Amino acid sequence: MQLSNDRFLRVSGVVKTYGDYIALRAVSLDVGKGSSVALIGPSGSGKSTLLRCINALEEISDGTIEVGDFEVGYRRAGHHRRRLGASALAAQREHVGMVFQSFNLFPHMTALDNVMSGPLLVRRESVDTARKKGMQLLERVGLGSKASSFPRQLSGGQQQRVAIARALAMDPQIMLFDEPTSALDPETVQEVLNVIRDVRDSGMTMLIATHEMEFARHVSDTTVFMETGQIVEQGESSKVLFSPETGRCKRFLAGLTGQPA
Ligand code: ADP
Repeated sequence: MQLSNDRFLRVSGVVKTYGDYIALRAVSLDVGKGSSVALIGPSGSGKSTLLRCINALEEISDGTIEVGDFEVGYRRAGHHRRRLGASALAAQREHVGMVFQSFNLFPHMTALDNVMSGPLLVRRESVDTARKKGMQLLERVGLGSKASSFPRQLSGGQQQRVAIARALAMDPQIMLFDEPTSALDPETVQEVLNVIRDVRDSGMTMLIATHEMEFARHVSDTTVFMETGQIVEQGESSKVLFSPETGRCKRFLAGLTGQPA
């Protein structure tokens, strides 16, 4: 099923194996520019693996992934397709922002330095430019007053908001969120969800692996249900979350506590 006429992210027949284990089984997914897609499904269904493949953190075993005008992990010259080297992969990754469950901030750097690190080290922006943009982003996520704090001095929700600001600092073309609220205390979940919603409202193309069905309903246009490395059902979020067609998706949603209201 095509999710939009404007296919900005194109995942085609992607297979990912770990030894004999097949984590992704010919996954195909198109996402239009500015769309927001929730990935749901049981633990181990391949959501995180799919996001990691889109960010070239994992090398796919078969298929192709294209973001905008580039093919993730590869360079094409005529009929030849070559795996990119480490520095070219890193350059590609600049365009794909990723937010992890466990924040992954640099512990020895302040919040501002974390946000400035990509623009300074990868994009070679000037310190003044990187600082100005870093402060703007910290203010955008409500943490202007925490610029000098180290990650250990921040709550989980605040750390995750810094991580989102850090990803945005690279002006990504797409943002991937891998269970962004799973490691948070319940009282800080909402502040992170509000920031993610703000990113969505800015027109960012987003994929969010989440177990927060209420959030999936509010932030995503489309929901994709995965199981055993396959997309089992996808469509408008209101449809998939409230009246799924497949028995597998129905059973998954029925087994959750805190279903969408
Ligand atoms: P989800 O995000 O839906 O919980 P994952 O994508 O993390 O699922 O995992 C999908 C499957 O792939 C799981 O069975 C997991 O154990 C397996 N897997 C993920 N990463 C690796 C790895 N590096 N080596 C071996 N198996 C892995």
